[in-house]
Amino acid sequence: MGKPIEELKIISCHMGNGSSICAIDGGKCLDTSMGFTPLVGLPMGTRCGDLDAGVIQFIMNKYSIGIDEMLNILNKKSGVLGVSGVSSDFRDLDNAAAEGNERAALALDMFHYWVAKVAGSYAAAMNGVDAIVFTAGIGENSKDTRAEIVKYFGYLGVKLDEEANKKRGEDVMISTADSKVKVFVIPTNEELVIARDTRDIVG
Ligand code: AMP
Repeated sequence: MGKPIEELKIISCHMGNGSSICAIDGGKCLDTSMGFTPLVGLPMGTRCGDLDAGVIQFIMNKYSIGIDEMLNILNKKSGVLGVSGVSSDFRDLDNAAAEGNERAALALDMFHYWVAKVAGSYAAAMNGVDAIVFTAGIGENSKDTRAEIVKYFGYLGVKLDEEANKKRGEDVMISTADSKVKVFVIPTNEELVIARDTRDIVG
């Protein structure tokens, strides 16, 4: 963006099987939507994301299950899989929704809504945002998901470049030149981060 990282407020939306959002203020992580475990924050492929803790007691009592099974349900059978009843894979959800499956459409809507809601809270926490980044399997490959989420960012002055949004597999700006907040697709490179962290730990 032609500016030092210290001057930038960035919201990174990592959307894959596991999904999380990170607020990066001046190059440092201010907040991130996962917690003690990856279960919290956004609803994911199979993880529930944020929920009212009272739900745990309610379901455990209703179905006479223990805490281990409850956590297994929240980790492996919830999220868009649980809501749709179809799949944890967004390609299957897109196909099912296109064929009129209402639960698949609801799961997709829920996911878009949550990304917008958490990203919006981070824009508030940082008192603004200069750039929003989409990454990981869904963020890099699903132009429809990106377009649906970007619709929520109109209040930030975000304008989507429809043509640029069709590109895949490369670093690309998908907002228009006059968009107040810039939007990028940047492929995830988790291996590089793991290698750097390992080097720093053992070095
Ligand atoms: P990751 O965990 O980053 O490897 O992301 C994997 C997820 O990306 C899959 O479960 C799919 O839901 C999603 N994905 C991959 N390709 C596409 C696509 N073309 N459209 C929508 N979702 C996709």
